[in-house]
Amino acid sequence: MAVIRDVMAEFELLQPASIADAQKLLERHGPDAWVMAGGMDSFDWLKDRIKKPKVVVDLSGVEELRGIRTIGDGIEIGAMTTLTEVVNNPIIKQKYDLLAQAAELVASPQIRNQGTLGGNVTQDTRCWYYRGGWPCYRAGGNICYADTPEGRNREHAILHADRCVAVNPSDCAPALIALDAQFVIRAASGERVVPAEEYFIGPDIDITRLHTLRPGELLTAIRISSTWAGTKFYFEKVRDRNVWDFPLMNVASAMVISGDRIERIRIAVNGAAARPLRLKAVEDAVRGKPANAETGEMAGRLAVQGAIPLQFNAYKIPLMRNLVKRAIGGVEEATWAS
Ligand SMILES: Cc1cc2nc3c(=O)[nH]c(=O)nc-3n(C[C@H](O)[C@H](O)[C@H](O)COP(=O)(O)OP(=O)(O)OC[C@H]3O[C@@H](n4cnc5c(N)ncnc54)[C@H](O)[C@@H]3O)c2cc1C
Ligand code: SF4
Repeated sequence: MAVIRDVMAEFELLQPASIADAQKLLERHGPDAWVMAGGMDSFDWLKDRIKKPKVVVDLSGVEELRGIRTIGDGIEIGAMTTLTEVVNNPIIKQKYDLLAQAAELVASPQIRNQGTLGGNVTQDTRCWYYRGGWPCYRAGGNICYADTPEGRNREHAILHADRCVAVNPSDCAPALIALDAQFVIRAASGERVVPAEEYFIGPDIDITRLHTLRPGELLTAIRISSTWAGTKFYFEKVRDRNVWDFPLMNVASAMVISGDRIERIRIAVNGAAARPLRLKAVEDAVRGKPANAETGEMAGRLAVQGAIPLQFNAYKIPLMRNLVKRAIGGVEEATWAS
């Protein structure tokens, strides 16, 4: 838990009205600037005085970053679109309900009214040592407090740890990977578009951030083509309390079934590693097989291969196995037994 201290450190608040202006400000202030979307994660850092940027660039007045529009055969969601707007949008409900289901399970109605889709996929890890200002690897130090014999690591990673064992906390991230979304990033040098699964990075690439954004870059929109529109979706989130709580783990899948066989599938989990994981080996293994409990069982076992538990999170291995099993084989057939 973060320590509550006096007041926020002083910063200069800048409120651009266009993407171009936001970008000029970010370019001018470089690493001294903090991008503010809905503020749900940002204000935690600022109020706890763990992060002390000189300048905050508030995107709330940039209308171009808001809204959901149809483009080509798909949709584009502005990064500043709130999670509530995502949940209630009729096109998303009809064609990309996987994202609506994931967004609806985020936190509480108040947080969904204020939190944005861009902020949800760019938010930082919830590791309490790091958020409490402990000088760990992720904060520039040379120790991981969570990965020590006394470390409290019940919520931490079972896969792909590299010094840091923190996990990505986003519910929308795996749904966007399963939908094969594209993330639109703007920098002064131009625009780049990255597939959802490449937007998220692990400590092996950069231990200081969970995403690919560099200082000065803005996530402007998320595009979803019609490739997976209206397919068979599955989203499940497991958390300690059924409201206002981050995922211990979640799973998202999009599947096309032909006859009784899986013709196409994309599946991702979050809460297992520092980045949401697309389970490519599972996708390859189940393609052409019936979508039943037996295939689900095989998929679940494959998904957790290589998992290494910490002292207090061994439960995440059967949890992940069963979430994958249920996503593929259906809920009735699966059990929670380890
Ligand atoms: C009590 C609580 C419970 C929560 N529970 C859940 C949960 O169960 N599941 C879940 O998925 N999330 C949960 N969240 C996260 C929440 O839903 C928000 O999505 C998240 O905090 C950030 O969204 P935001 O719009 O407020 O962004 P901010 O907090 O303003 O920004 C978050 C981060 O992203 C960066 N950023 C934001 N937008 C952009 C952009 N367009 N370009 C570049 N950088 C950007 C900011 O610089 C900042 O580092 C919870 C948050 C709280 C406070
Ligand atoms: S898990 Fe990562 S963020 Fe948490 S203490 Fe270890 S290095 Fe820091």
